Amino acid sequence: MKVYFLGTGTSQGIPVIGSDHPVCKSTDNKDKRLRVSVWISWEEHSYVIDCGPDFRQQMLASNCQHVDGILFTHEHSDHTAGIDDIRPFNFKQGKIPIYAHQRVIDNLKSRFDYVFATVDRYPGAPSVKTIEVVNNELFTLGDKKIIPVNVMHGDLQVFGYRIDDFAYVTDAKTVAENEISKLKNLKVLVINALREEQHISHFNLQEALDFIALVKPEKAYLTHVSHMLGFHEEVQKRLPENVYLAYDNLEITL
Ligand SMILES: [Zn+2]
Repeated sequence: MKVYFLGTGTSQGIPVIGSDHPVCKSTDNKDKRLRVSVWISWEEHSYVIDCGPDFRQQMLASNCQHVDGILFTHEHSDHTAGIDDIRPFNFKQGKIPIYAHQRVIDNLKSRFDYVFATVDRYPGAPSVKTIEVVNNELFTLGDKKIIPVNVMHGDLQVFGYRIDDFAYVTDAKTVAENEISKLKNLKVLVINALREEQHISHFNLQEALDFIALVKPEKAYLTHVSHMLGFHEEVQKRLPENVYLAYDNLEITL
């Protein structure tokens, strides 16, 4: 299985529009972060987790040729606003399955009503097939079983996803003990780490490192990163041996 980091930035992306922050001015490509998303592929299967406002650019940069489905973590715009840009895949493949909590499906139906319209559809509008994800219920993608992992983003429920020995958890601030038990014996955990300072709805760096120490994956990759965390190269040097700061276009194989 291959995991390709399509974006590793927090909601505004890096550089932030109009920012004079040194990280936003950095010439290191690893300091340029699109909105957070990963592309997971194995054999002929190809799925993305989240579809934010940089989706088009990410599909072009990664040369992704087909998408068998989109798994949504939650409804916030940095994770969903790219849904209009699935159209090239619709033209090639037909309806794209989307997997999400029922609350997220309802949210998308009100924000992107034209995607879900059944009468007077605009020709060429994006088209999706919705599949509800329910906590504690496994579902399958191709030949693989997916375990949804419930985490809390402040007061908002968010799904992480475990696929074999890989798990992707973003926008977490608190995780209940029974959910942590779904993350044992991982080869790779991807987990959000916003910045050094505390945040009301995101792990800061220390909270992410504490979570990694609790879950004990072989390797962990940090994502959903703010420019305030610092330069990629400097932050990476301060991390424990098995923890890596993810960056855009990084590809790992499991
Ligand atoms: Zn987010």
